[in-house]
Amino acid sequence: MVNRNKAISLFEGRAAILATMHGKEKVVAPIFKKQLGLDVRIPSNFDTDHFGTFTNEIRRVGTQLETAIEKSISACYKLNYTIGISSEGAFNPHPQVPFVILNREIVSFIDVVHDIQIFGEALTTSTNYNQKQIYDIDEAVAFCKTAKFPEHAVIIRSKHYELSLKGISDWDELERAYNRVYKIYGEVVIETDMRAMYNPLRMENIKAATENLVNKIFQLCPSCDFPGFDIVEKRRGLLCNHCELPTEGIKASIYQCQKCDWREERLFPNGKEKEDASNCYFCNP
Ligand SMILES: [Zn+2]
Ligand SMILES: [Zn+2]
Repeated sequence: MVNRNKAISLFEGRAAILATMHGKEKVVAPIFKKQLGLDVRIPSNFDTDHFGTFTNEIRRVGTQLETAIEKSISACYKLNYTIGISSEGAFNPHPQVPFVILNREIVSFIDVVHDIQIFGEALTTSTNYNQKQIYDIDEAVAFCKTAKFPEHAVIIRSKHYELSLKGISDWDELERAYNRVYKIYGEVVIETDMRAMYNPLRMENIKAATENLVNKIFQLCPSCDFPGFDIVEKRRGLLCNHCELPTEGIKASIYQCQKCDWREERLFPNGKEKEDASNCYFCNP
């Protein structure tokens, strides 16, 4: 049983800055308030877009996690807070399932007083992420009908991003935007607007990543009680249930404390002590 009070005592009554201009506080703030008594605030003016946007106008330089951490730190120092939170999303082809897009959301948490850095993540294929070059307004309408429009907004833009009309969420506006871009550029691209406040599906996944983060905060080091005791390595070698030879199956997770470096091996994290022979290289080559 985890000692939740120990984690709460580190954060209760403090204030954190959430580096967002995209309404993420709606799902993030209530979770921190309820679970940790932490007050999450948003900046009145903080440009997160220079860290990279989905529309490729500004490319992200670091990895997704690096960008999230950098945003949290930068918000802390610029806005004078000791706790910084930020989130970063990515949409990529699913590594195992063809033609399916995987949304990975990361929420990072930095406490400069206690020198804590923890992140949560959530993966889902439940996303409307899509884009298409179109040639008439009917195609725009057809695209929107598959994109959960108008609850989810779209962007109408020129092919090379000279003009991007974002946050479009009604049918008249769609037609006006299409005509405007078409008139100037003769080429139109329509895409889903993935900014959190324009995309309820993404907002749901940011909520799930925040819950994952708070769960990790409550994972305390068995040796020093520091929060964020987390998996740093997974060990393969689960034995085959037929030939007893080691397989690629995960045998153990290695946890490590970021404060005192205490390490712990936890066996059979996937709840099985033997690998099925169908996944064994020797039994089923
Ligand atoms: Zn420790
Ligand atoms: Zn085997």
